[in-house]
Order: sequence, then C-alpha cells, then structure tokens
Amino acid sequence: MDYRYESSETLRNKCVACFKQFNKMEHLVEHMRTSYHSVHEPICGICKKHCRSFESLREHLIGPLPKQECKNIFNIRGCKFCLAILDSPNARCFHQERCQFSSINSGLLARFANLGIRDNLTVENGGTRGPQVVALACKMVGGGSDGSLDLCARVCLIDESENIIFHTYVKPPIPVTNYRYETTGIRPEYLRDAMPLRQVQRKIQDFLCNGEPMWKIRPKGGKARILVGHGLDHDLDRLQVEYPAIMMRDTAKYPPLMKTSKLSNSLKYLTQAYLGYDIQTGIQDPYEDCVATLRLFMRMRSQVHKKEDYPLASDPQNRNNFASWRQNELERMSPEQLLEISRSDYYCWCLDSRDM
Ligand SMILES: [Zn+2]
Ligand SMILES: [Zn+2]
Ligand SMILES: [Zn+2]
Ligand SMILES: [Zn+2]
Repeated sequence: MDYRYESSETLRNKCVACFKQFNKMEHLVEHMRTSYHSVHEPICGICKKHCRSFESLREHLIGPLPKQECKNIFNIRGCKFCLAILDSPNARCFHQERCQFSSINSGLLARFANLGIRDNLTVENGGTRGPQVVALACKMVGGGSDGSLDLCARVCLIDESENIIFHTYVKPPIPVTNYRYETTGIRPEYLRDAMPLRQVQRKIQDFLCNGEPMWKIRPKGGKARILVGHGLDHDLDRLQVEYPAIMMRDTAKYPPLMKTSKLSNSLKYLTQAYLGYDIQTGIQDPYEDCVATLRLFMRMRSQVHKKEDYPLASDPQNRNNFASWRQNELERMSPEQLLEISRSDYYCWCLDSRDM
C-alpha cells in the first residue's frame, strides 16, 4: 500500500483490528459497534490483523488470497496447525511436532467395539473439585420409513485425559430401518440386548448434572460438568438429555472454528486441519470423535489472551460502551481506544482455563 496517497483523515478512520478504512469517523464508530472485535479473536502473528475465525486467518496466511508479506514469513516459521508464528524455523519444527496429534490406534478402536459396555458414570458426593470437562459423541443409525431419522445407537463419554467413562450400544425406542453398516459397523444383534435409550438418558443426565439440580446449574463454582462435543444439540436431542447451553462447548458452533460463511465445519475437517490427523475413515467409533472434539476444545482453551475484568459485550458493565448517546465522545476517540473498549460477542474458551 502506498501511504503517500492516504490522507491522515483516512488513517485516523482505520479500524486497528481488521484494518478496514472508513471515510468518516462516524462510520468507524458504527463498524466498531457491530463487529465485536476483541483480544479473543484469532490474530495474525505478523501484521496483528484480527480475524473472525481461524479459517479467515488461514486464508490471510495461506490463501487462496493471502497477504503476501504475511504469507512469506508464515512459510518460513508458521505452524500449519495452530497458525502461530514461531521465532525461527527450528522453533517451528520443535513446536509443530507437539502441535500435531496422531490418530487413535485402529486396533484399540476395534477393541472398544468388542468391549460392549463400559460404565464408570458416577455422581460425586459433596466433592469440591472444580467443574470437570467431559466430551460426548454418538453414532446414529436410521429409523422411519426411509431410514433418514437419526437414532442413537452408540454413545461414548470421555474425561479430560481421554479415558473412557461410558461407552455402550444403545437400543433405540423405535425400529431401526437402516443400520448404516458401512460407517457404523453396527449389526442388529449388537442392539438387540443393548441398554435401552431411557436408561442411557437417565445415566448421562445424572452424570452431567453431577448432583446439581438443573435450575441451579451455573457456569462457575458448581458441580455440573462442562460438556464438549461436535453438534451437541443434535446428540442431546437424540439422547433426550437436557442440558443448559452455558455448560456446553460445541466445536460445531464455536465462532473461531466456523467457516467464514458462518456455517459449521465438519469434525473430520477440523481434526485434519487443526490437529493434523484423519478421523472417520471406514467404520466409525464415537470414542474417536470424543477425542477429536476434546483436543480441539483443549487447544482453544489453552490460548493465552489478555485478561479482562468483563470479557463479554453482553456483560452489564459493557452495555454502554458503544451506546448511541455517547456518539460524540466515541467519534473523538482514537481507533486504538475504540478497540480497547470493544468486547467479544461470544464466550472465548480461554475463559475456561484453570488459572482464571
Ligand atoms: Zn474492524
Ligand atoms: Zn480468549
Ligand atoms: Zn498478517
Ligand atoms: Zn502449532
């Protein structure tokens, strides 16, 4: 960009987060009011541009239409999984090795399939341990006349260390019309004497709430567990489990992990792109999905972002940050100051990290 042709007025009206420029300061203020820029957005390690998602950061660094200066540096010392910029090519090598995960051993998966039921679902009595993180995934077979109705036939729950807490076949409440054998590997005899859905539902419900009445569940300081998954609304609906949204961390609905079009990415894609290995090849085990979604959650949670007292735009303390009655005052602020008071419109998972 040639700065000689940029008047100081336009420079003043440049968003310091996404670098968009505006003819008038009031337009920049309006932009800040609706874009919810924050320290929690994925940020280019080179030019510091804020992106709405890792996908748009990926486009910025890799292409199809990258920013050339950033791309050049990224090619030398950027991590292709988490998109961080390291200090040197050597540091990149060392980092990338730890950033890439390997797939679950397929022999291990086959063993789980034959294990039948594994049930370590326990509710703690009066324990004082903080909210624990568990991940859940299901595999569906088909019901209804054309077999398109999803029925949960396998479910898996794991803890933060990827240990299995619960892994079982589920007997659906209505007849199965399509076993979807090529992907599920499920045969009629596996479900015939399986645990009935009603029982699975009650066990999982009790385990998640962990002794906390549903109406009392709050994000911090309670006993209820944080539930990680991919497409949790659908899974819980099929399991007939109810759980409050504030306790769910869904890798299909988390803005930084969504497409630039604001649609969900598949778990298969996210695992390939951000963890560096393949899942859902051939017959699928819900354990594999649990592990992938948990690893994505952990990676997002481990991000180091500046700590703010009130991180959300919806926090009452931030309600007037961009209020229209402050318009004159806002138009006199610098672009840096505007970013300073701007807050995220989604709950960043870094806020779940223990040291907060
Ligand atoms: Zn912007
Ligand atoms: Zn954050
Ligand atoms: Zn950049
Ligand atoms: Zn990395």
